[in-house]
Amino acid sequence: MTVPTYDKLTPPKEGTRVTISGGKWNISDDPIVCLLRGDGIGMDVGNVPGITACAVKVLDAAVKKAFGGKRKIAWFDIHAGDVARKMYRPNVTDEQVGTLNENEQRQLYLPDDTLKAFEYYALGLKGPLTTPIGKGIRSVNVALRRELDLFALLRPCKSYPGVRSRYEDVDLVVVRENTEDLYAGIEFAEGEPQTLELIDDIERLGGRKIRADAGISIKPISVFGTRRVFRFGFQWAIDNGRHKVTAVHKANIMKHTDGLWLRVAEEVSREFPQIEFEDRIVDNMAMQLVQKPELYDVMVMPNLYGDILSDLCAGLTGGLGLAPGANIGDEVAVFEATHGSAPKYAGLNKANPMAMMLSGVLMLRHIGEGVAGDRLEQAIARVIAEGRSVTYDMKPERDDPTAVGTSQVADAVIEMMGSSPNGAAR
Ligand code: NAD
Repeated sequence: MTVPTYDKLTPPKEGTRVTISGGKWNISDDPIVCLLRGDGIGMDVGNVPGITACAVKVLDAAVKKAFGGKRKIAWFDIHAGDVARKMYRPNVTDEQVGTLNENEQRQLYLPDDTLKAFEYYALGLKGPLTTPIGKGIRSVNVALRRELDLFALLRPCKSYPGVRSRYEDVDLVVVRENTEDLYAGIEFAEGEPQTLELIDDIERLGGRKIRADAGISIKPISVFGTRRVFRFGFQWAIDNGRHKVTAVHKANIMKHTDGLWLRVAEEVSREFPQIEFEDRIVDNMAMQLVQKPELYDVMVMPNLYGDILSDLCAGLTGGLGLAPGANIGDEVAVFEATHGSAPKYAGLNKANPMAMMLSGVLMLRHIGEGVAGDRLEQAIARVIAEGRSVTYDMKPERDDPTAVGTSQVADAVIEMMGSSPNGAAR
């Protein structure tokens, strides 16, 4: 791949690019990681650091403490969302946005510079991005996943002692297909000429009548898309010491989409005989997760069910402030928290940075720095268990005066990691 040239970015002078050959990630002691700080609680406001800056601080400390300075992450600041719009196209007014075509709108919030950097450096840590309201672009996050073909969204949901939750010992992983299904963005608005034409075609080809005043969203699920996400799920289960994969579907009703999903899942399961395989219908899965979450391990789901059930699983383990995530493709991986940009908390030093830090833990494991990742996760778990240096959302009452701020959580986690290169968390 040729070295990209950028409009407004300067790559770090130090560090080595991560490369992928034959599915294997080649990672040096000083990998370059693209850093997208994000909007709202993700960004720094004046002297107040956002959750991304706090996550970077603890990740740097974790790597330093685990490897005694032998390894170091080289961060490359790149931009998207409102920050990118201000930086790249400050003169475009809100009124003008509606007149831009789809690609121009994408470039406004997701500049080519950013895509080039992710494609070249293959690895990123990302803060949340605000979805522009009523301006045409559906979601910057969805656009990013689509442009980079980040087909698997990994969402581990784990109980940490000390978190207020109705459940204990939950340890679930949702793998959500990220590119197809009803979220593919193939939609037809009610009353539009193309929609009426499509309604006619469906009646002619399928013999089914659709009301003329219907809007339509299309649900594509392909053999290719299903196979690669199940292969990812099974391989992730093996690499991470898991024992079972559950395929989630509604194959009894949607035979040609979810039916295909289940058939391909069964085929792929035969490639991984060391991992137990089963399937569940999605409505039953929802009930089972609430009643007996301990029965499940890794669950692979189409896009829509994955969106809903991963939030359900986050709810089982203490909510959004603790739910990490990773968007993974064959060529690029981007790690990010499940929650959004919570704009009302921007610049207040109030938001919980732990989901962002735990996304960093996933990244450290992905790049072979599992020792640092384990150490960081243990320190976060100890800070939660002690219950002193936690943000408002982890206190019994939302206005608890003993809640600390975002940056104080980072300081507490770093202190908890201890100082000797090989020592355990204190
Ligand atoms: P949100 O997750 O940003 O916030 C919902 C509520 O959850 C907040 O009001 C807050 O009370 C709480 N919360 C969320 N994160 C928290 C944290 N780290 N610490 C403490 N409390 C936290 O969801 P929303 O309000 O629906 O979305 C806000 C914006 O974020 C929207 O524009 C949405 O599109 C976007 N979004 C982005 C992503 C992403 O970047 N991956 C994901 C979801 C939503």
